[in-house]
Amino acid sequence: MRYLSTRASAASSASSKSFCEILLGGLAPDGGLYLPETTPRLTRAELDAWRTLSYPDLAFAVLSKFIDDIPADDLKAITARTYTAETYAYVRDGGDASEVTPLRWLEPGLALLELSNGPTLAFKDMAMQLLGALFEYVLEKRGEEINILGATSGDTGSAAEYAMRGKRGVRVFMLSPHGRMSDFQRAQMYSLQDENIVNIAVRGNFDEAQDIVKAVSGDADFKARYRIGAVNSINWARVAAQVIYYFKGYFAATKSNDEKVSFAVPSGNFGNICAGHIARLMGLPIDTLVLATNENDVLDEFFRTGVYRPRSAAETHTTSSPSMDISKASNFERFIYELVGRDPAVVRALWAEVDAGRGFDLSQTPYFQRIAEFGFVSGSSTHADRLATIRKTWEQYGVMVDTHTADGLKVAAAHRQAGVPMLVLETAQPVKFEATIVEALGCTPPRPAALQGIEQLPQRVTVLDVDVAAVKALIVEQLG
Ligand SMILES: *Cc1c(COP(=O)(O)O)cnc(C)c1O
Repeated sequence: MRYLSTRASAASSASSKSFCEILLGGLAPDGGLYLPETTPRLTRAELDAWRTLSYPDLAFAVLSKFIDDIPADDLKAITARTYTAETYAYVRDGGDASEVTPLRWLEPGLALLELSNGPTLAFKDMAMQLLGALFEYVLEKRGEEINILGATSGDTGSAAEYAMRGKRGVRVFMLSPHGRMSDFQRAQMYSLQDENIVNIAVRGNFDEAQDIVKAVSGDADFKARYRIGAVNSINWARVAAQVIYYFKGYFAATKSNDEKVSFAVPSGNFGNICAGHIARLMGLPIDTLVLATNENDVLDEFFRTGVYRPRSAAETHTTSSPSMDISKASNFERFIYELVGRDPAVVRALWAEVDAGRGFDLSQTPYFQRIAEFGFVSGSSTHADRLATIRKTWEQYGVMVDTHTADGLKVAAAHRQAGVPMLVLETAQPVKFEATIVEALGCTPPRPAALQGIEQLPQRVTVLDVDVAAVKALIVEQLG
């Protein structure tokens, strides 16, 4: 399987890359995103054979379709040690940790697909845990090292740290906004004592931390000399890892491969639902992919109107489902590439508009009709919707959901069809967003026993001013 950039010119198919070659990188040199040269299509016999596989075996089967430069035995060992009941142990009452992503039925035809039973209680673990194992494997083979530099407002940074802790050849420098995360989020990250995890709290906000990361990564000499890398949401391996649980959820919800299901996906950077789209292209019988946004509705607007209008930072709302507070969706280019019939010239023209801060309008083009062919619908949710949904789900089913999952449930309700189960992806556990749960229900969410009192553990963090030079100096000092 070879990979091409969404912006590759016709002449550059010679520059296609293998899976391991794109694993550690970010964007393609031409600014595009990597995708498989052709999407693998499953035969009916394969789909039937996959139905009964355990999560790690299913992961191996799915990933084998995308990876041909890691020997099968090695890949099998990687999935076996990644998707264990021990790692996904935070499953709640009645769930089975060995299922990794158990299905929780709320009523006939409506279920939560639990993706947040991993170490940081958010679905980012599903992909990041695999990335940690793959990085360690590939770096060891090549005798290389990497220093991952990132900025986080919460979920991504902690998922990266828990995936990379103790991994040979990998060091993580994670910037976070000093004093602006919840006590729980801070404790999750800063209490890690692993030597290869370096927490840096910046006396500023998330955008300022992010700007430091861009400045350091933009210094080509520094980047090469200190082997600076990233694990952001456009990483192809993260998308591939997310394809697996669409299959798992489908098999758990149906009795035969003649049935269809729909998925509702709380969305921000379009990574999660992009994986659902790829599962569909591979031949998984998905009826509808329901995209749910919060007040930051740039994607909902596109799927309803054909107009893609990225917002400025000033137009981006701070909401109670903060992991979906995005102004433009970094993975969206992969979807548009498929929508325009895999024509990189069209993608280049559209993203010239996006990069110029304008966006684009497909409403009068034949591409707009294809959105329905691809089975996409969308909707958005507000703070009031979120509170009402959290209350209703608690009262009606006795199940407590987090704010992001509530957005998914709210939008899903408008798109249910008789005879087609709706699986809502549960992207985080309520304990991560305690304040809004208290606002909705008047009580605090239960906390897994292993996470009781983590706020009292000793913390390791260096506090720095918003200063690129100071961050560089810390990296140099740590790498000695
Ligand atoms: C990251 C995240 C999302 C959004 O996922 P995308 O892949 O960026 O669309 C939704 N919910 C939670 C809890 C998240 O952490």
